[in-house]
Amino acid sequence: MNVYYNTYKNSNCIFCGACANVCSNVVVDLCGFNQKLKILNMDICKKCVNKRCLKVCPNSKFEVLNKKEYVGNIKSIYYSFSKNQIVNLGRSSGGFIYEFSKYIMENNIIDGIISIRHVNALDYETHLYNDIDDLKRMPTSVYHTIDFSGALKILKNNCEKKFMIIGLPCHIKSIVNTLKLTEYKYLEDRVKIFLGIICGYTFNRNNLKIVFDKNKIRLSDIKEIKYRGNGNGRINEIRFKNKEKFVVSREKKFFNSFFSDQCLVNNSCLYCNNHLGRECDIVVGDGWDNKENINGVNLIIIRKSEFEDMIKDNGSLFFKKAQFSNIIRSQSKKYALGNLSRSLLKNKIDRKIIKFNDWYVMKIIPKLLFNGNIFLSEILFVFFKVGFFIKKILNKIIIR
Ligand SMILES: Cc1cc2nc3c(=O)[nH]c(=O)nc-3n(C[C@H](O)[C@H](O)[C@H](O)COP(=O)(O)OP(=O)(O)OC[C@H]3O[C@@H](n4cnc5c(N)ncnc54)[C@H](O)[C@@H]3O)c2cc1C
Ligand code: SF4
Ligand code: SF4
Repeated sequence: MNVYYNTYKNSNCIFCGACANVCSNVVVDLCGFNQKLKILNMDICKKCVNKRCLKVCPNSKFEVLNKKEYVGNIKSIYYSFSKNQIVNLGRSSGGFIYEFSKYIMENNIIDGIISIRHVNALDYETHLYNDIDDLKRMPTSVYHTIDFSGALKILKNNCEKKFMIIGLPCHIKSIVNTLKLTEYKYLEDRVKIFLGIICGYTFNRNNLKIVFDKNKIRLSDIKEIKYRGNGNGRINEIRFKNKEKFVVSREKKFFNSFFSDQCLVNNSCLYCNNHLGRECDIVVGDGWDNKENINGVNLIIIRKSEFEDMIKDNGSLFFKKAQFSNIIRSQSKKYALGNLSRSLLKNKIDRKIIKFNDWYVMKIIPKLLFNGNIFLSEILFVFFKVGFFIKKILNKIIIR
């Protein structure tokens, strides 16, 4: 078994690139609307005894975890946001990541920050931010798949320095696995802080293509997509090279009402049991239930006590203690307690139905929509919803 059959063929690959970092026989092809994992020579895999690709893969298997295991170790929880309105408005939620990054660089707690930067249209790469001015160019939340393999390369090329790495829980897990389980162990103490992002899902690039085709948007015309910002968490802005913009509400117009987030996402995200980033030192998300700042509030989970003072010392941030119940209210039990993945993993029948739905929703219904038959597609949407309802009942019967 290799990652190709175990993870990619089971639609669990998130294209983090960790496997390609430890084996030159694996290639991650993530570009434009393309997301593929390739094995250059399957014969090499058949003879391989190390299976390093599987060891580092964050999604090689999704286990059913109880709620305590799922949530992981939590030292404290806070609401926070930047007191600077320009930062607050310009960032995805409250601007915590920018303010915290600036603080730890100014105070020489680390030498640089490994995160992502925009390259072209949908494509991003990992980047070393070692200058405070450069931090202003850190992108806001990117909701489609990203190759994170460059983070290890940055660590290898700067092995005498100390870093904070910012990424999604699966990105962080892929780095933690690589540093713990491979010859790169010598780099382990170079990472002083793993900062994770609470993550409900990322969009599958193939699925995005369907939506873009529907709206007659060509990849070659796109400069970048801004999924968040300007104090509104649910607005997408497609910026074109000719400086025009296409601004849409995520659930409504763009995805034709039934294109809910759950249909566009990577299959792995439906089964993911790590939305709260157990391997991270600090985890940052949205404090949706806190209304103290209409422009956006962050919810911060601190997993190790040593980071508590470091965070609260920062005068540019507002802080207020929060409880675990606030995570549930902000994220729903689906992500806060892992209820979605637990129920899907417990019922193998779900996997088959979800796969069927993937195909059904993403290929058939949009085709009907492309032909402009909105009425028919809305009927199919109702049919789809009823299907999900029946599936829910079936699952309950099968669990018992
Ligand atoms: C794919 C995705 C799903 C999310 N789902 C949820 C959710 O369900 N619930 C919730 O509470 N919050 C979620 N968030 C987090 C939320 O959108 C904000 O990123 C977070 O609250 C930090 O807020 P901020 O204002 O400090 O962000 P920003 O200042 O905008 O900083 C975010 C930083 O994270 C890094 N980053 C952004 N996107 C990616 C990416 N795709 N891969 C790696 N690094 C990235 C960049 O360094 C960026 O500067 C999600 C974020 C992403 C990217
Ligand atoms: S390590 Fe990452 S890229 Fe490789 S198979 Fe696993 S999830 Fe996919
Ligand atoms: S939901 Fe899980 S698998 Fe999907 S992108 Fe987020 S952390 Fe990765």
